Amino acid sequence: QEDLFKKVIAHCKEYGFVFPSSEIYDGLGAVYDYGQLGSELKNNIKRYWWEAMTLLAPNVVGIDSAIFMHPKIWKASGHVDAFNDPLIDNKDSKKRYRADVLIEDHLAKIEEKINKEIAKAAKRFGESFDEEQFRATNARVLEYQKKWDEIHTHFSEVMNATDLEGLRQIILDCEIVCPISGTRNWTEVRQFNLMFATEMGSTADGAMKVYLRPETAQGIFVNFLNVQKTGRMKIPFGIAQIGKAFRNEIVARQFIFRMREFEQMEMQFFVRPGEELKWFDFWKDLRLRWHKALGLGDKKYRFHDHEKLAHYANAATDIEFEMPFGFKEVEGIHSRTDFDLKRHEEFSGKRMQYFDPELGESYVPYVIETSIGVDRMFLSLICGCFEEEELEGGEKRAVLHLPAALAPVKLAILPLVRKDGLDDRAREIYDTLKFDFNCQLDEKDSIGKRYRRQDAIGTPYCVTIDHQTMEDNTVTLRHRDTMQQERVAISDLFSKLNEATSL
Ligand code: ATP
Repeated sequence: QEDLFKKVIAHCKEYGFVFPSSEIYDGLGAVYDYGQLGSELKNNIKRYWWEAMTLLAPNVVGIDSAIFMHPKIWKASGHVDAFNDPLIDNKDSKKRYRADVLIEDHLAKIEEKINKEIAKAAKRFGESFDEEQFRATNARVLEYQKKWDEIHTHFSEVMNATDLEGLRQIILDCEIVCPISGTRNWTEVRQFNLMFATEMGSTADGAMKVYLRPETAQGIFVNFLNVQKTGRMKIPFGIAQIGKAFRNEIVARQFIFRMREFEQMEMQFFVRPGEELKWFDFWKDLRLRWHKALGLGDKKYRFHDHEKLAHYANAATDIEFEMPFGFKEVEGIHSRTDFDLKRHEEFSGKRMQYFDPELGESYVPYVIETSIGVDRMFLSLICGCFEEEELEGGEKRAVLHLPAALAPVKLAILPLVRKDGLDDRAREIYDTLKFDFNCQLDEKDSIGKRYRRQDAIGTPYCVTIDHQTMEDNTVTLRHRDTMQQERVAISDLFSKLNEATSL
């Protein structure tokens, strides 16, 4: 699986999906650029989400708020005081860690040891049964398991209590049981705020400290009444937004899974107090169906309901996807009560109430939030669709089985040879279809090589223009996943593609 992940990262670079930022200057930690195909795929993901939200879902409209916002907003939302991760430094190696992630790594290492022992024992057990060896293995496994349970329980307790010294103690203990850094020379654990700050206005006027937003949601909350009034929206209704968010993450790893500059697709759904849990279930179900409709396999998704809820939430779940490094959060769905709007009332001094004409009363609405990272969605697609397939005759092909609606290029147009008018005919077809579909005209190399290139970037269809085309105006249409070909009339191409690639 680790191997698969490395291959996916290399593939993204090789074919122009994702490049490390500032690469010629040796990169910038946890920042990435999307290339010519990556940006197409990303745009398609955003459109798939935007249309599902604003066209299909009940009563949802979209906005596009600014990245800079009044700094008081982040005080009201709680981000200035509490948007922290625990940080620890190793004095010897000079390496910096996120304390809770470091402990998770320790736990994973113990688990790995347990699994190795069990696998070894199972193998030996298959060959011959040696009671003494069996007992020794059993004792080791039990010892590791006990250690794992102890650390895990203790870890949950101190995390819940945000006990920083407790976290440090666990790290010290872990280094004895399963050393990762090899030393015990650690600093204290500090809280580290994840928000990036900059200054607005010239210093002569007195510059104001402003933040790069760490989430897009607050831009929705502060515009709640603007949209409700100007759009004459009736509760229940939602506001959706896609935009950049910034977090100064302590650990930069796992490629585009955890970035310092990333993009979110968020929606806040405003409901009557008391009806929030019904709507929470509604959105939970709808969002999972949206993911599954892409056809990557239902088993790759699961819910992770939160046991420990943030103080403002009364229900929360994550939709997790099976990445090569385990099931990981791609989307969060939270019932946020009236926390945010009430806090904005308090900090701005403005009323955030809605007059409900059916009830004949005013109230601060409750909110259900759905929040998904574009980049994590991108990663889940690439990981879930990448395959190295062994073909007959031993040849290999790398293929991205992307859903046709999201694939960056929908159709490749390939003249069999660059003579006898085949290339001109290919260009004609390209010129008639290019306004409706993202097409590529590719004339270079053998037809086999051209198919491989298109498979690797996930193009669902290729048409080949051959000598028969010149006689009867038909082409071969090749399907990426089955590699099967059919003969179709050029005049039918539009409707066939339109049907197969629409959202
Ligand atoms: P995590 O626990 O992984 O740090 P989170 O619970 O802090 O994530 P939320 O604040 O709920 O995440 O953000 C909503 C969504 O935004 C996440 O489900 C994820 O898809 C995306 N997201 C959050 N942080 C990042 C990041 N650093 N890089 C890329 N996407 C992110």
